[in-house]
Amino acid sequence: MRIDVLTLFPAMFEGVFHSSILGKAQEKGLVSLNTTNFRDYANNKHNTVDDYPYGGGGGMVLKPEPIFTAVEDITKGYTRKPRVILMCPQGEPFTQKVAERLSGEEHLLFICGHYEGYDERIREHLVTDELSIGDYVLTGGELPAMVVIDSVVRLLPGVLGNETSAVTDSFSTGLLEYPHYTRPVKFRDWEVPEILLSGHHANVADWRRKESLRRTWKKRPDLLESFPLSKKDERFLQEIRQEEEGEK
Ligand code: SAM
Repeated sequence: MRIDVLTLFPAMFEGVFHSSILGKAQEKGLVSLNTTNFRDYANNKHNTVDDYPYGGGGGMVLKPEPIFTAVEDITKGYTRKPRVILMCPQGEPFTQKVAERLSGEEHLLFICGHYEGYDERIREHLVTDELSIGDYVLTGGELPAMVVIDSVVRLLPGVLGNETSAVTDSFSTGLLEYPHYTRPVKFRDWEVPEILLSGHHANVADWRRKESLRRTWKKRPDLLESFPLSKKDERFLQEIRQEEEGEK
């Protein structure tokens, strides 16, 4: 996969693109991560990329020319057009499902905004997707783009050492992930649940499924509304309700 980012602050990506999973994925040749400062495409002597909004009001608006020219330059020579993704608080809410969808693409191009917003013609005639990372407003699209890129790249085959770790992640299954424990068996007065030490794979799998359901029921009941529960899941949920009621 190739990922391009149009930004006015390429330095913000240096640490993130060269550390941890993203750094390793690039070393293994599984992804190529590139930043372009679209100020380099400003066609005026002061290199300005923003201007006052027509109709008045506060804040500056990103001009269309530098962003269109940068995208056209980057994609020149590619027969397949990339997904051009505008980071924007008004966009489609970013979820694991969207990450999975994007991980099947060959080329992604992110546009990071700043200031008050973009000239609307960018949205109308250049972008294929608009993504928001949540209902709050950040200063720029750089942090949101990093969030999306990280979650997409970790889904690419071969990127995570243990392929199954992304499969059981929260939201991949439609549920929140079960609790994890490691050594020591007893830390202070708190012990690891005995079943995890039993070596009985089927019982461990059942315990994990039930705890996954418990977490989701307690913390994100909305996820259960659209989740296809098996008969066993329903039984587990019934037990969970009784257990939790009994705790009160
Ligand atoms: N005036 C805009 C509005 O009300 O929709 C907000 C502009 S914001 C200050 C500047 C830029 O930060 C946006 O153009 C976008 O690229 C990015 N941004 C801010 N919050 C975001 C979010 N929740 N998700 C994705 N991008 C965001």
